[in-house]
Amino acid sequence: LTKRISKSIFNISNKGKITESNIQSTLRNIRTALLEADVALKVVKKFILDVKNDSIGKTFNNSFTPGQEFIKIVKKQLIYTMGSIKKNDHILNMSTEPPAVFLLVGAQGMGKTTTVGKLALFIKKEKKKKVLVVSTDIYRPAAIEQLEMLSKQALVDFFPCHKKTDSVLIAKEALKYAKTNFYDVLIIDTVGIMYSNIHMMNLIQSISNKVNPIEILLVIDAMVGQDAINMIEHFNTYIPISGIILTKIDGDARGGIALSIKYSTGKIIKLVGNGEKIYDIKYFEPKKIAERILGMENVLSVIQEIENKIDRSSIKKIKNTFYNKTEFNLYDFLIQLKQMNKIGSIENILERLPNNKIIPNDVKSRINDKLLKKFISIINSMTKKERMFPNIIKGSRKRRIALGSGFKVQDINSMLKQFENIKRLVKSVKKNGISNMIKNISN
Ligand code: GDP
Ligand code: MG
Repeated sequence: LTKRISKSIFNISNKGKITESNIQSTLRNIRTALLEADVALKVVKKFILDVKNDSIGKTFNNSFTPGQEFIKIVKKQLIYTMGSIKKNDHILNMSTEPPAVFLLVGAQGMGKTTTVGKLALFIKKEKKKKVLVVSTDIYRPAAIEQLEMLSKQALVDFFPCHKKTDSVLIAKEALKYAKTNFYDVLIIDTVGIMYSNIHMMNLIQSISNKVNPIEILLVIDAMVGQDAINMIEHFNTYIPISGIILTKIDGDARGGIALSIKYSTGKIIKLVGNGEKIYDIKYFEPKKIAERILGMENVLSVIQEIENKIDRSSIKKIKNTFYNKTEFNLYDFLIQLKQMNKIGSIENILERLPNNKIIPNDVKSRINDKLLKKFISIINSMTKKERMFPNIIKGSRKRRIALGSGFKVQDINSMLKQFENIKRLVKSVKKNGISNMIKNISN
């Protein structure tokens, strides 16, 4: 999704102004990208319409290019479509007389039990609350033990039920126990059910009626895709779903469902599960997702500009430094310096990278063109081995290099320091996934 959208927005960003016709083709690309990401058609249609209405005929502030303005509009719409959230503090409702009861429901295998464990730890840590968990799943073998184990990992209390024959009764007793023992929060796990199973739906409804939950959270595996909408609607006819927990977003789901849920059902995704570990849960953050989808655009345009100015073989080498496995060495550094030298005003380029916060300030301010030439000649005076393994450059080598290049040992030191900074930068760029994009753009 990210790739497609950033690519299509890129098309518009360098054009003179937003006209209806040049938006048209970009919107078509966004439309395709969203559909491919499994966003429901009616959501896509609405999204495109909203973006269109918002952008056409808009007068732009001079400090932004039309492309940038357009991105801002798309971002706003993306956030709105996913459901803009007030503050994370308010996402989980606990404003009730304790214990606040959380009921987790959903189909089998969605990740409910795992999520009860995760949520217990999350609330304990995040909210500093005393949490009790209970399983009412007397149907699936070992489901109760599964939760007991998770509760141990989360270091929260587990309600030991003795009468394993009646789910409603277990829930009732757990609530009584939570009250008398002053728990702040009681999280209830339930049996996984097909939403077409009316009998089981009634059971969940009875549990809900007995314990009066402040949050009824429907747990949905991100991989179910558009079927999530049916699930939400069905469950909601039996019990008032207060929010969605989307699990397994670490899997290979296309992610479009995150954009469809709120528009299609009015329900908000509150939390997401992003792994199998007990701490793999976090708030759903539309703003961050939108930024991730769109933040790449500026990088793309900068890379495009660099590509226009330098030759293909070098860009390949630079790309390699971003996605190969070996460590960034002075060879890579030299290639980059040489290319930078051609491009000119580096500060300007660094400044325009959206995540330029990750570039250390001293790198920004000290890489100027004069310095570049100096660094280049210093590296030119090094041996192959020194360039491959800069760590070996110690006192005597430094003196030799200084002599050879006509600079001082201090200069060698400052060059090496810059190199280390850039190396760190490359590392963090790698981590932030720009590699994929660089690969992508010149294929
Ligand atoms: P339940 O039937 O709804 O209670 O589902 P479980 O909690 O038993 O989970 C089913 C499977 O999904 C287990 O193997 C979990 O480890 C796995 N699972 C749950 N949440 C996540 C998640 O966020 N990411 C990944 N990768 N796996 C998850
Ligand atoms: Mg379960």
